[in-house]
Amino acid sequence: MKNVVEFFRSLPKKKCHTCGNDMNEQADCYGNLCDECDHPAR
Ligand SMILES: [Zn+2]
Repeated sequence: MKNVVEFFRSLPKKKCHTCGNDMNEQADCYGNLCDECDHPAR
């Protein structure tokens, strides 16, 4: 299991293409926008 952890640690942090904020891993389904920029109410 240690290899899996190191694999994810080696991945570059995903950044929002609009504001450049760091994105959570769970934001993958949102494409390249963070929660702020992808919020439908904004
Ligand atoms: Zn953003």
